[in-house]
Amino acid sequence: MKIPYGKQHITEADIHAVTEVLKADFLTTGPKVKEFEEKFASYIGSKYAVAVANGTAALHLCAMALEVDSNSKVITTPITFAASANCVRYCGGSVEFCDIDPETLVLDIEKVRQKLESAPKGTYSGIIPVDFTGYPVNLEAFRALADEYGLWIIEDACHSPGGWFTDSAGTQQNCGNGAYADLAIFSFHPVKHIACGEGGMITTNDPILYKKLLQLRTHGMIYQGDDRLIENHGRWYMELQELGYNYRIPDILCALGISQLSRADEGLVRRRAIAAKYDAVFASSAVHTHVPKSDTGHAYHLYVVEVNNRKELYDKLREEGIYAQIHYIPLHKMPYYQQHGGQGISLPYAEQYYSRCISLPMYPSLTDEEQNFVIEKVLAFAK
Ligand SMILES: *Cc1c(COP(=O)(O)O)cnc(C)c1O
Repeated sequence: MKIPYGKQHITEADIHAVTEVLKADFLTTGPKVKEFEEKFASYIGSKYAVAVANGTAALHLCAMALEVDSNSKVITTPITFAASANCVRYCGGSVEFCDIDPETLVLDIEKVRQKLESAPKGTYSGIIPVDFTGYPVNLEAFRALADEYGLWIIEDACHSPGGWFTDSAGTQQNCGNGAYADLAIFSFHPVKHIACGEGGMITTNDPILYKKLLQLRTHGMIYQGDDRLIENHGRWYMELQELGYNYRIPDILCALGISQLSRADEGLVRRRAIAAKYDAVFASSAVHTHVPKSDTGHAYHLYVVEVNNRKELYDKLREEGIYAQIHYIPLHKMPYYQQHGGQGISLPYAEQYYSRCISLPMYPSLTDEEQNFVIEKVLAFAK
């Protein structure tokens, strides 16, 4: 038996959706891209969505659209995938890591506030909060803070499609819905909720940013019908007004994404059931869990626990064929970030969390037998 920490789930319907596109007219930009964008925006509850090559490209385009440059200082969490911070570096900006809240494991807004208060206004440009593990960051609070300091917000929602928090009016706010963040991004890497192989999405409610993102996704070019054209020589005419990239996603992959999206809620129900079982069995053990408050819709990309002797548990599980994973090594400790802003900083909660964390298997097709096997091995270790 081999049980990974996460795994895609491909059905016959998914395969059918992909082969239909192979027989049609467009392999890359065609009708499936638009359909995927519209269905995704409607699922998340945002006005606009832009499908791109992967989640990292999505972050890069967001940083470009918000005009990150060598004068920009951007705040993010060290407990995330590298791309959340790297996108700032792609544009020449500098990354400032702030510590996590040890309960929720996401960026601690109080630490961010302290950082902002300790520097003259105008020092920082933006904040990139991450819905780490699928736990929804309270973006209403971050928006209020960001507005005080004139900052933008990019929500990294790669872990949280289907997640939500409750705002002060008692309204459920879906992760990535654009109500509070300027831009949000998702990934369709096979290990994420919705698998395309490679793929990403940017969501926003801002029409100007939306137009800019479409332009940057295709080299920076704008086409017929765009009121930003400076000249117009005829039907063929287009303009390169900015420097962009080829960050397009093929129609083939969007067809897979659409098919996967139609089962997203089913997957979420299963993820939450798996989490509830883990929560219950570990409650009275030495395994430390992170149970969200009842007004929070956790999306459970990951199920993280903390233990003493983490390496021993990791090795023991591996011997049993259980491939648990560690999310993440704090980014400020990485040799690259030691050279780029991480040197000499101490983020005690992130560092302590890293020394104890381990992500247990969490994916919709994990069977009850498999989960019971994992639980049995973890509890045997914890005794
Ligand atoms: C997966 C992931 C990304 C990057 O997505 P790719 O599609 O792999 O480029 C960015 N941020 C977080 C938090 C992720 O989990």
